[in-house]
Formats: sequence, C-alpha cells, structure tokens
Amino acid sequence: MLTQNLGYPRIGSKRQLKKACEAYWAGKIPLNDLQETAAEIRENNWKLQQEAGLGLIPSNDFSFYDQVLDMAFTVGAIPERYHEILTELKKPELDLYFAMARGYQKDGLDIIAMEMTKWFDTNYHYIVPEFTKGQQFKLFSTKVLDEFKEAKRLGILTKPVLIGPVSFLLLGKEKEEGFHRLDLLKQLLPVYIDVLKKLEAVHADWVQIDEPFLAMDLDGAEQSAIKWAYQEIKKAVPGLKILLTTYFGALDDNLELAAGLPVCGLHVDLVRNPDQLEAVLEKVPSNMSLSLGVVDGRNIWKNDYQASLELIRKARHKKEDDRLMISPSCSLLHSPCDLDEETKEESLSAELKNWLAFARQKVNEIAVLRAIALDDGVARHNALLEENKTALRSKATSIQIHKPNIQKAVARLSPEHGRRKSAFPSRKALQCEQLDLPHFATTTIGSFPQTREVRQWRSQLKKGILTENQYNANIKEATEKAIRWQEEVGLDVLVHGEFERNDMVEYFGEKLEGFAFTQNGWVQSYGSRCVKPPIIYGDVSRPEPMTLFWTKFAQSMTDKPVKGMLTGPVTILQWSFVRNDQPRKVTCQQIALAIREEVKDLEKAGIHIIQIDEPALREGLPLRHADWDSYLQWAVECFRISASAVEDSTQIHTHMCYSEFNDIIEHIAAMDADVITIECSRSQMELLDAFAQFNYPNDIGPGVYDIHSPRVPSTAEMVTLIEKATAVVPYQQLWVNPDCGLKTRGWDETEEALKRMVDAAKKLRAEI
Ligand code: GLN
Ligand code: ZN
Repeated sequence: MLTQNLGYPRIGSKRQLKKACEAYWAGKIPLNDLQETAAEIRENNWKLQQEAGLGLIPSNDFSFYDQVLDMAFTVGAIPERYHEILTELKKPELDLYFAMARGYQKDGLDIIAMEMTKWFDTNYHYIVPEFTKGQQFKLFSTKVLDEFKEAKRLGILTKPVLIGPVSFLLLGKEKEEGFHRLDLLKQLLPVYIDVLKKLEAVHADWVQIDEPFLAMDLDGAEQSAIKWAYQEIKKAVPGLKILLTTYFGALDDNLELAAGLPVCGLHVDLVRNPDQLEAVLEKVPSNMSLSLGVVDGRNIWKNDYQASLELIRKARHKKEDDRLMISPSCSLLHSPCDLDEETKEESLSAELKNWLAFARQKVNEIAVLRAIALDDGVARHNALLEENKTALRSKATSIQIHKPNIQKAVARLSPEHGRRKSAFPSRKALQCEQLDLPHFATTTIGSFPQTREVRQWRSQLKKGILTENQYNANIKEATEKAIRWQEEVGLDVLVHGEFERNDMVEYFGEKLEGFAFTQNGWVQSYGSRCVKPPIIYGDVSRPEPMTLFWTKFAQSMTDKPVKGMLTGPVTILQWSFVRNDQPRKVTCQQIALAIREEVKDLEKAGIHIIQIDEPALREGLPLRHADWDSYLQWAVECFRISASAVEDSTQIHTHMCYSEFNDIIEHIAAMDADVITIECSRSQMELLDAFAQFNYPNDIGPGVYDIHSPRVPSTAEMVTLIEKATAVVPYQQLWVNPDCGLKTRGWDETEEALKRMVDAAKKLRAEI
C-alpha cells in the first residue's frame, strides 16, 4: 500500500514566496534571490514529506504564480501580445511569465494581463489560458523536468504533476470565433507526449495527471476527447505509470469512462463523496491502482481515523494492497501550511488546536493511516488511533462548540422566519412614504477608500501604539468626513464608509462566537495574494451588536438616510473554513439568525435601509448542475431569514458583484430584497437582460461605473449607460450606484466619479 500527496502548498509557511515575488516585482531583489527562495521552499516541502514517510511525493506542484499558467507556459500557449518581451526586450522567461499573469507596463509597453477566474468551487484563482483557431503548441518551458531533476539531486524520486490535456483546454477560453478549444487537442497532445517521454528518459516512475473535469458534467465530445487522449498517451509511453486524478466531487456518470482508461492508477475524492467508493471498487479493473483520497485537502480538521480506516478496509476487501494508495482528497494547496506555526493561545486555544490539521499535519495523517491499516494491533499505532479518537470525542462534546440554545433556535426555524410581512408592492409604497427618495436614487455599495492611513490605525491599534480610544476617535473623524462629503456631493442614501472594517467577513467573524482566527493560516488566493479564512468551529451566536455603534454614529451626523451595512450569511460561510460535523446549511442558518438579530437592532435604532451583501452566493454553487437547486434553496432561505424580521417600511438591499445571473435569476428574485445592486458597467448593462427577461419585479441598481480601475468615466457615459438600463427596466425600478465598494480606490478618483454619477442621475430625472 503506497502513500502519496497530490500537491503541497508552495507559498512557504511564512509566506516566503509572496514576499520574494513582491520584492522582485518591485525591483528590490534580483532574479537569483527569487529563484533561491523558490528552491528553498521546494526542498523544504519535499524533505518534510519524505520525513513523514510518504511514498509518492509530488514535484511541479510548486508554482511562481499558478499551476494552470505553468501548464500554458510548458506547452507554449503564450498569447502573441507578450512575444515582444522575449524577442525585443530580451527579458528572462520568468518576466514573460509574470507579464502574462499581471500585465506589463514598462519599457514603453502596455500589455494587459490574462484573465483570472476561480478554480472550480475553491477560492483559488487560476490564469485562464487563451486559445486561437489552429493554434500550435510546442514544448516551451521545461519546468516539470527541471523540478524532477532538482528533487532527484536531493535524493528524492518525485511524482511530477501535470494538468491533463483535456482539463487544460476546458479551463481556457477561445479568443476568436469559429472553433472549439477541444479542437486543439490534436495539436496539443504531442507536446504532452514529448514531456512524458522526456520524463521517462530521466527515469520518472509515476506521473500524476489531473483531470478534475472528470468530476463535472461532461458531454459526449468531452468524454471522447479524454478517451482519445489517454489512449494516445498509452501508445506513446506504455512504460510510464500514469496516475489520473479527479477531485472536488464524485466520478458518477464518468466513472465508467475513467475506469476504462488505459492508465495505471485512478485517484478519487472520498471526502467530498465517500459513497462513491463501492461503485468505484466495482468498476476499477484489478490491475489499476486506486488512490483513496481520505484526508481532506480543502479543510482544516483533523482526520477521523476510524472513518478513513473503514474506507480503507472496504477497499482492501476488494483490492490487493499493492494496488492501493492513501492520499489527501485533492492537492493540499487549499490548506494552510503548518499548525505548528500557531503559537498564541489567545488566537487558537490548545483545545481547538487539538482538533485541527494543516498541510504538514495532513501529510503525517496519511502516513499514519497506512501504518495503522497495515499493522493493526501494533501498540504504537493503537496509541495514535486512541489519541485521534479522544480528540474527536472531545470535539463531539465540547461546550465550546455545542450550544443547545442555538441548536434549538435553528430547529425552531419555520417558513415564517423567511417571509416579510407583505409582498414587495405594498412594501415599496410604504418605503417610498418613509424615505421620500427621488427617482434614480443615488447610493454607493458601502466602503470608501481604505487609505494607508486607515490601515495604519488598525495595525497601530493591534501593536498597542494607538489606544482603543485614539483609534475610535480616528475612525469617527473619517466617518464624519465621509458623511459630510456625501451630503455635499448630493448622494441620496449615504453609507458610513466601513473604515472600521479590516475585511467584510473577518470583521463579523471577530464579533461572532464560534469563529476562530489563525496567526499564519494563509492560503493562496491568486499569485502572491493569500487569504486567512476564519475557522467556524462552533455554533454561531452574536453576543452583542456588531455594526450598531458605527451605523448609529453615522446616522446621527445627518438627516439623510444612512444604509446599514452587513455581510450576508452565505458569504460569511463561503469565505471561511466551515465545520464538518454538521451540514453547511445548518451552519449557514446559525449565521443567518445572528445577522437577523443585527438587522433587528439596526431597525430599532432608526436605520431604515439595511444592506446585506451576498457577493459569494454564486460561487457556492455545486459543481454538478443536479445539485444546484438544493443549494440555492437553503442559501436563498438563509438570506431571507437574515432579512425578514423587519417592518415593511424598512428597505432591505443586497449586493452581488459578479456577472452571471441568467441561470440563477429565479433564485435571485426569490431573495426578495427590496433593492439589489449588481456589477454591470463592464458589460455595458448587458447583465440587466437577465432581470428584464425575467420581469424582475423589485428595484435594481445596475453599477454605472467600474470600480476596479482608477479611470473616471464622464457624466455622459454614465447617462448613456443608465439610458440603456431604462430601455429594459422601467425607470421607476432603477437606482444609480457604482459597481461595488470603493475600498480599493483613492479619494481623488472616488470624489470625481461620484460627483459625475450624481450629475448623471440629476440629468435623467430632469428628462422624466
Ligand atoms: N459592502 C462591501 C463594500 O462596499 C461590499 C463588497 C463586495 O461586494 N465584495 O466593500
Ligand atoms: Zn461587490
């Protein structure tokens, strides 16, 4: 029985790679230093996996930016606009690589970056490969070979990791019409075969090829493409052991296809879907190795040894030991590096730490599981099993986690909790009366520029340089300034500016019970950007109001309505590590109840407009279509629970910043927010079509300018956009606002843009 890993985090346990990359980009360190840091991280990762006793240790799982970009680089899928960087400027290859990821604005060039998008249902973002008709590929980067040899020099025979050819194509985008990217498989495959032959020549034994699309809905053409590709690979390199991996879901209807491929091994995710094991064991031929993904690569909880051993036992019943592997469910890229870096009892208590495992600990769990499985009865292994059972038992009963009153409140939830008193038309009438807003009412999405100064106050408060009082005084000043300024500009619905918030989830997590925060639990989000998701470990409750103070303070400064600003339950859930001992739905319901209390308190304090942001609602969508409805049902219901305790005259807003509503529009409508603000400007209002076609009944604020860019659009441009909107949505339903919050912008451009936006609204009112 082998053990293996599918990928190890490459940022370094102290985010060394982030720091080195950013220093290199800023011109502060030479390329050599960056390369050295990278080599140290790789060596360290390989060695710690070796020391843990892993059988197959991955290589080429390291990346300076992103593994999909690495693959594009390997096969020479380099868009033409970047060619000059090598040919004319004679820059090193790595500069070209970074230019593809980040754009290139120097040496007289101004080249935009490649697109970035979410990696399946994770919070990791990959660089989207660009394809053109008849595109040719060639082996451009030998990174996979170099890293294999590098490890070999250290005495470690690694298992190189590649993204499979079909998934690689499917992850990308056609940049011109008249072809489908899968048409390119014929041209692409020879490069893969070239790489595999070269790996064979340097005596690679196993090679891991990831085809995550095998766990998604595939059509006939996609299935045939996979079949063809692996037959060709088998013909070309019959001696190489290919381990085909799938993750983030079950194989389901692709099982037959996967099990029939001429590969030596198949990896399945048994954390997401342990139930598939039986069917998999049934189908996988006896000479094909099966890799059991039993250790969760997507979460931070200690493995349940007994449960994993049960799966391993089932597999051993059907398969020879030498055809079995024990693995994480997916690459550990999505886990923080090392629990041992958590040293402060105040942030993670010893009790909580005893329930957790980060990447380094997970590697160890894999090795231990094998040992226990093989040597049943050996005292040392029994002790480890007992230790694991004790930890899990303490988690199952801890009063830190289990709060009967919260569980009761969730059990008592009924459809009533998700229902406003009256339907939207009656509410709208009452709200119009109470708020007395003009047509084309103007507002913003919540945050104002988080300047360096504001961020500094927070870090100074943390370090004790500022007292709590001084810090609050500063935030008050910033908030008051923002209110005065919004009045001057003439916005209709004001916001307090969110100056007191570090992050829209962390801020709430810190105030809610049941959440914990790590010191070093960083996970790569994209490139050098890492996030430190909160850990939801226990039943969630709100010991005291979270936003009341600042919202009331802002409202006390002005006669105009100030909009209360909350993060919605689904978004808080989605951007955290979530407990695995109850359904996500239940955790979300608990958060919804806490937000509901906050909403009630805001209303009681005289706040008549409350926005509940749900930018992550869409990204929670399951990977398989068949599972969408059940997710959307509870997600929408949780939003409604948080929003529905108010009087009809209180106006509930929600905000979402993404660009696809067509396929979920009925569920967006079911949220029944009085006003929804959405990102729209970059699509030239096209996104509104989904709402128009659906006859979306409530109010909509389609964003009229892009907040991702410092560019300030003209009043005329915004007028044109709003006119476009009025062509599809009755003007009585329209609000005027930017695409999203303004925290990443500077004040200068914000001021100018909002002034023009208000002017645009005035022009349109005059035309009614
Ligand atoms: N209210 C938040 C803000 O303005 C919304 C951010 C978001 O949609 N991601 O910053
Ligand atoms: Zn947004």
